[in-house]
Amino acid sequence: MAADTKKILILPGDGIGPEVMDQVRRVMDWLSANRGLSFDVSGGLVGGASYDAHGTPLTDETLADAMASDAVLLGAVGGPKWDGLPFDKKPERGLLGLRKEMGLFANLRPAVVFDALADASTLKTEVVKGLDIMIVRELTGGIYFGEPKAIEDLPGGGRKGYNTLVYSDYEVDRIARVAFDLAMKRNKKICSVDKANVLVSMVLWREEVEKVAKDYKEVELSHMYVDNAAMQLIRDPKQFDVVVTGNMFGDILSDEAAQLTGSLGMLPSASLGAPDETGKRPAMYEPVHGSAPDIAGRDIANPLATILSFSMMLRYSFNMDAEADLIDTAVTNVLNGGLRTADIMQDGKARVSTSVMGEAITRELDKAI
Ligand code: NAD
Repeated sequence: MAADTKKILILPGDGIGPEVMDQVRRVMDWLSANRGLSFDVSGGLVGGASYDAHGTPLTDETLADAMASDAVLLGAVGGPKWDGLPFDKKPERGLLGLRKEMGLFANLRPAVVFDALADASTLKTEVVKGLDIMIVRELTGGIYFGEPKAIEDLPGGGRKGYNTLVYSDYEVDRIARVAFDLAMKRNKKICSVDKANVLVSMVLWREEVEKVAKDYKEVELSHMYVDNAAMQLIRDPKQFDVVVTGNMFGDILSDEAAQLTGSLGMLPSASLGAPDETGKRPAMYEPVHGSAPDIAGRDIANPLATILSFSMMLRYSFNMDAEADLIDTAVTNVLNGGLRTADIMQDGKARVSTSVMGEAITRELDKAI
């Protein structure tokens, strides 16, 4: 394998996963043929598909393949067929197992509003048009994982339940560095969202973010309390560029930001781990949407979120910004040209299938050579 060959593991998963992934393969093939890129692509099963074949949503072999790859591209997992399975066999466990074992602590969720779709948002067009923000969520710490956590009977009767919001300095340091590195690739502006006025763990968060900022003198850092951030995201989302925040706040704010765009079928994501001594960073890219069992197998799903997830892989795992730009521009132009899958259909536009949308992207890419 040539030194610059990129090893990619594709895990289509369940529902619409395989059909949207087929469209990414077209884009990969196009890049190999026209940009001289070399991808060593292998496939595997995850989620319900893996359970059906192997009795587990994630096999040791698939996990080993994921760890050995330069990046993983995942479709989606889950569906009613597997809803009755015990907790540890559920398709979602496959996804969570990958995130955990690969140590994916940084979740990148861009919220981009394409001009052609600006009126799909429930917010006024002028509020969202041109929106391009990146929410960086800490994914493996904070209150979702902090100990102690329990529901306990109280000696005098009654019960109490509690979780612990805990962050160590190294956890804040590494997520902040991911965010600052991203800011350097974008507009050199970061807003760190916390609740330092009430929570002492968030005082530590703020102090550690300030320390990291000293290594990125060119980046403008601001801080915002999460309650205000939730309001500002709706009031004036374009004031943000990169937002960095903890696990629970990021969970909520990234879904809020997704809603600004108004189209689930358009949203990509990335999850990154810590680089090893050679600088190689575990990474998994996936659309934000689920397996959409209601439309699976009908060639009507929107493949653009998965194609844009592949573009993120090129940009953030392989430093192939020029190729990522080509894909992003192709998506913009295809939308401007009036093609729409059913989920983003608008009056006067041409409704197309999953595969026709994939073809249209490669045809648009052809125009760039
Ligand atoms: P969903 O995202 O699958 O679907 C929500 C709605 O959006 C559906 O009406 C669906 O048809 C539509 N939709 C989603 N993606 C689309 C696309 N690319 N093109 C067109 N329409 C699209 O969420 P859900 O219905 O709540 O969950 C379905 C299954 O997916 C469940 O088993 C759930 O656990 C799983 N899920 C998986 C992931 C993941 O793999 N990351 C994320 C969310 C949900």
